[in-house]
Amino acid sequence: MKTVTPEAQKFLNAEHLMLIDGKQVEGEKGRLVDLENPADGSVIAQAWRGAAHHADRAVEAARRAFNDKRWRGKTPAERERVLLRIAELIDEHTEALADLEVLNGGKLFTGAFRGEVPMAARTFRYYAGWCTKLEGEVFHPSIPGLDFHAYTIHEPVGVVAQIIPWNGPLVMAAWKLAPALAAGCSVVLKPAEQTPLSALYLGRLMQEAGVPDGVVNIVTGSGSEIGGTLAAHGDVNKVAFTGSTETGRKLMDAARGNLKRLSLELGGKSPAILFEDCDLEAAIEGAAMGIFGGAGQVCVAGSRIYAHYSIYDEVVEGVAEVARRLKVGPGLDPDSEMGPLISDGHRQSVHGHVTRAVDEGVDLICGGDMLDGPGYFYPPTVLAKPRPDSAIMTEEVFGPVVTVTPFQSTAEVVSAANDSIYGLAGSVWTRDLSLAHKVVRDINSGIIWINCHGIPDLALRVGGMKQSGWGRELGPEGLMLYTETKSIMAKL
Ligand code: NAP
Ligand code: MG
Repeated sequence: MKTVTPEAQKFLNAEHLMLIDGKQVEGEKGRLVDLENPADGSVIAQAWRGAAHHADRAVEAARRAFNDKRWRGKTPAERERVLLRIAELIDEHTEALADLEVLNGGKLFTGAFRGEVPMAARTFRYYAGWCTKLEGEVFHPSIPGLDFHAYTIHEPVGVVAQIIPWNGPLVMAAWKLAPALAAGCSVVLKPAEQTPLSALYLGRLMQEAGVPDGVVNIVTGSGSEIGGTLAAHGDVNKVAFTGSTETGRKLMDAARGNLKRLSLELGGKSPAILFEDCDLEAAIEGAAMGIFGGAGQVCVAGSRIYAHYSIYDEVVEGVAEVARRLKVGPGLDPDSEMGPLISDGHRQSVHGHVTRAVDEGVDLICGGDMLDGPGYFYPPTVLAKPRPDSAIMTEEVFGPVVTVTPFQSTAEVVSAANDSIYGLAGSVWTRDLSLAHKVVRDINSGIIWINCHGIPDLALRVGGMKQSGWGRELGPEGLMLYTETKSIMAKL
């Protein structure tokens, strides 16, 4: 087992205070929540369950910071320098942050250390570069007989509430905070109640990097109380949310009062389509890891595999072989290849989906049994020949559970892939590039990979069609989510 860094251990042992107006703030007596290590169910720390008035105070602080321009009034190069410094500090604390992602978020250490923490640092670097490039346009209006000069500017949208889920605590925080800060907004971040630690740690690093007081506030607590207060708040200009489609709908209702801007990264039920001519070995491995990676607790997970009839049996067997081979275990064990689910409740929910599917007659190829021992482990599970309208084909499981369905024609598989309320992601596996590019045009989803699945990049937009959400994060569009365009016209 890898040992936890003294730095992470010291942080775990300390109090986990909220960050409001640049100050460390505790909650009210008795309102502490136990934080669990999903790999063994032990309590690793406690965090405050903030109350509505903490959310209100954070919004007030963010508003003051926005109005007096202590951040948005800085030159773009100054903002860039602070964001670059945040990235450097994340790099300097990579191991401790990775430990926190493992202990609180149930991640694999290697993945967090090599993947997620560096990705968080890169996010700040990427958006640091945009600070000096957020330019408007100049144009010449066509009004006969008169001369005008017109242009646009992109202003920060204002006070932003950012509400994030537990499945990528640090990366989700970085994907939200970096573009908002680059645009000049002030922020109130609400981490998932189960996984606030790395965001609170990041909050300290941001202060150290020179983010002024009140510009980034972090309020911990429950979704209904803190999230609900922020979403309904009359002085919040925008909510940026990542989480379930169900919560996304509640946010739409809450946001109606002041018509605040809303960007929503929601659930998915993404297809991975394996054509007859694909590189079978690579496709099987890639499609399997497209669902079992992160124990399936990944929004873009390829939870519906479609395989051409001619290769169907090989695909089912191949994916099951990967499932049986993967070593499920705690993230601190360097041999583990798949970690636990986030909580016992979530494991019950995943298992409920599987049991129901089996009751409804799907073929259980492997997995499907809760694993013994402490920790919330669930085996990679492969289900074959599900009915297209069954719950396992329509509902998001958010666990290491995949269905494999045969298809005959391209038209048939495109229609099956699109037969979902979701439209987040997908992948197409073939050696025929024309086929690949034609099929991706016909799939209704925000991201599609060809001959790979789930590979992120900061320039690759993330977001969904249909009930997978509104808006796109990352890339320049991710920055524009935090701006308002202003048009200016001058008569010469
Ligand atoms: P969730 O229940 O919707 O929670 C997400 C966040 O919303 C948490 O911080 C939660 O707080 C908060 N929340 C809950 N109820 C709220 C309310 N009424 N008002 C305001 N905020 C509220 O989602 P989850 O189960 O934690 O996360 C998994 C989901 O996220 C999956 O559906 C997955 O597909 C989606 N996801 C999407 C993307 C994407 O980019 N599209 C990325 C990752 C995950 P508490 O934790 O305190 O309840
Ligand atoms: Mg939840």
